Amino acid sequence: MLNKEVKRVSLVGVGPGDEKLLTLKALECIENADVLVYDNLINPTILNKAKLTAKLIYAGKISGDHYLTQDEINKTIVEHAGTGEYVVRLKGGDPYIFGRGGEEAQYLIERNIDFEIVHGVSSFYAGLGYAGIPVTFRGEATSFHVFTGHKKKGEVLDLDFKNIVKLDGSLVFLMGISNLSVIVNGLLSNGMNPFTKAAVVENGTRYNQRVFRGELGNMEEIAKKENIVSPALIVVGDVCKKNLSFFNKYRLPLSGKNILLTATRLLAEKMTPRFKEAGANICEMSLIATKGIEIGKDRLECELNNSTHILFTSSNGVNIFFEQIKKYGIDIRSLYNKKICVIGSGSGEALNKYGVNPDFIPSRFDSKSFLDEILPQLDKSSKVLMLRAKLGSDVLPKGLKSAGICFSDIPIYDTVIDYRKKFELNRNIESFDYVVVASASAAKALVEMIEDNSVLNGRVVSIGPVTTKALLKSNIEKIITAKQYDVEGIIDAIKKL
Ligand code: SAH
Repeated sequence: MLNKEVKRVSLVGVGPGDEKLLTLKALECIENADVLVYDNLINPTILNKAKLTAKLIYAGKISGDHYLTQDEINKTIVEHAGTGEYVVRLKGGDPYIFGRGGEEAQYLIERNIDFEIVHGVSSFYAGLGYAGIPVTFRGEATSFHVFTGHKKKGEVLDLDFKNIVKLDGSLVFLMGISNLSVIVNGLLSNGMNPFTKAAVVENGTRYNQRVFRGELGNMEEIAKKENIVSPALIVVGDVCKKNLSFFNKYRLPLSGKNILLTATRLLAEKMTPRFKEAGANICEMSLIATKGIEIGKDRLECELNNSTHILFTSSNGVNIFFEQIKKYGIDIRSLYNKKICVIGSGSGEALNKYGVNPDFIPSRFDSKSFLDEILPQLDKSSKVLMLRAKLGSDVLPKGLKSAGICFSDIPIYDTVIDYRKKFELNRNIESFDYVVVASASAAKALVEMIEDNSVLNGRVVSIGPVTTKALLKSNIEKIITAKQYDVEGIIDAIKKL
């Protein structure tokens, strides 16, 4: 755990894009941050790991213009650190490799603000590695040299090509795409062989990575033809003869699909592995969050004592219930004679984690099927304790009431819209092929925060009819609804598109 008293700022490298390349230390910083200042190359999934109360400040560029100048970024960091907040500045790759991390550190030193550097995996070798090109290889390159291919606005690139061509190792250029012609001509005009192997790696380590191999003499032509965009790495040297590809090697049903998951953090983290197994790229951006509602020890004990059946409608409810009984010191054996009912497999799995097997799961995971199938098992002596979301649908209470079954409907958590995500949502929305909405509350949050509904047309995949109904309140067209109301159903629905 970081000592907040000492480290007021962490300048953290988050790697080149694949969020799994985040270091444990970086993750710890992100989870503890009060303020996160991030750039446009940061994978939004990383931001999802932040505390619910953390401030998210975008310092990247919007359509070519600096959103915050470097000076403004420095001031923002200092301002927040000055109020005692723990500031985490996220930077792509490693903070000390062309990321202006050094300048930020210097600014903090000058103001006597304690900071640390958390190194990250740099794109210059990981991006190449994911493209199948090792930055060194015995017999091909015994050294590597990394250059910036970019100068301050208005300044020309003045690399010392005369000496660069004499270097006997891999040459890697960062930020060089807009200056590709200067780089190629600089090398050629100083005598480098035009047949020297070269490659460009665009969006290295990301789902949309593209790799172009060629020779120094035809790299410009390839870049133009393929419309290569930033971020990209240019590599020149014999290591480009190697093709050690492993990344994105196999085509899976959802390969190449970029999917936004809007569910709560817990649910998103649970669903993500399944999407990844199917080949999809997943961005976890929780538009909603759950907040537990304190029931109080006496009341919870009393409700438990009186009930014959306990019903959980979501895994959130299950987790919050177990947190509460632990906190209140209620013995788990107080559940021994209760029939535990769930509506979906998610809640069932959540229960399993606590060593409890549900006694009842309906054949279809919706409230109506639940009622149809549970009612024959209930009678006048039953008392159902429903532990669920505040403002849950009225299908269950209505159904139990009209069947004359005694019940208690206790809100155990509330779902709130995470308005901090509004900017990121709108900034990135067009890059997603599909937006997965797995609950009516996520639907409400999406509709509330999206600035232009029309970008969602034909892209929204809903977990089931209740969620679709919530989405239909806005003018979103061509909503895709899963036939089976769980992650498998969603994956199936996308596969069929
Ligand atoms: N600190 C970063 C580099 C910052 S400079 C690092 O250590 O990786 C930004 C440049 O890095 C981009 O213009 C591009 O050349 C390179 N870059 C960063 N991420 C990249 C990625 N995923 N794929 C290809 N190039 C990348």
